[in-house]
Amino acid sequence: KLSMRLERVATYIQQGSVLADIGSDHAYLPCYAVQKGISVKAIAGEVVEGPFQSAKKQVKLTELEDPIDVRLGNGLDVLLPNEATCITIAGMGGLLISSILENGKDKLGAVKRLVLQPNVGSNIVRKWLLENDWELVNEEILEEDGKIYEILIAERGIPTKPYANDAESALLFGPFLMAQRHEVFLKKWQLEKEHWQRIIQEMDVKSQNAATSSKRQELINQIQQVEVVLGI
Ligand code: SAM
Repeated sequence: KLSMRLERVATYIQQGSVLADIGSDHAYLPCYAVQKGISVKAIAGEVVEGPFQSAKKQVKLTELEDPIDVRLGNGLDVLLPNEATCITIAGMGGLLISSILENGKDKLGAVKRLVLQPNVGSNIVRKWLLENDWELVNEEILEEDGKIYEILIAERGIPTKPYANDAESALLFGPFLMAQRHEVFLKKWQLEKEHWQRIIQEMDVKSQNAATSSKRQELINQIQQVEVVLGI
């Protein structure tokens, strides 16, 4: 059975798509998408031998070798130029996700939608999307087994409305998540704020130097942004 996190990611995969799931590990997501009739074909890309073998094993076990191709390689290198129409990248840091997209720009020609699930650093992903003419069309936040996850959905287009005012906050919190104010969203930023406050307290105990005082100021700014968003 799929985790709730991956099940939610799957709901944003387009009907009839050719899916590329990058960093596919056990290929659970492509297997699910094909079994449910969401994707007609899928490519599971993996850069590490162990997870690549697990993906191959899973695809064989579910007898999906025909519609699902498991490929060993880095990021979007495993794809032909106009092969995929939907790309999922889940369970990695935002920096890694954006570098995979940046290095694979030539493989995005036929891609209509990106479904990205950064574990951390979703602001980096939003910034990459904004700078590369991918419009964020929806966002979701969820909690599973005590962990909080964000899902970002983007389609080709020049972003307009979501970033119109206070771009910095929108990149950090997510324009849709800010508007939704889901309880998990409020919890996440309350926890982040408390975490930053503890860091400041630790800094204050130790001696101050120029580096810590600029870091301290940055944390204070972030806390203030959170307080605005939470309405404190
Ligand atoms: N996507 C699955 C999920 O969300 O459950 C697996 C997440 S797992 C934490 C991240 C996977 O991405 C690992 O199997 C890792 O080997 C793979 N990975 C990391 N960097 C990659 C890259 N540049 N190209 C392809 N796969 C990568």
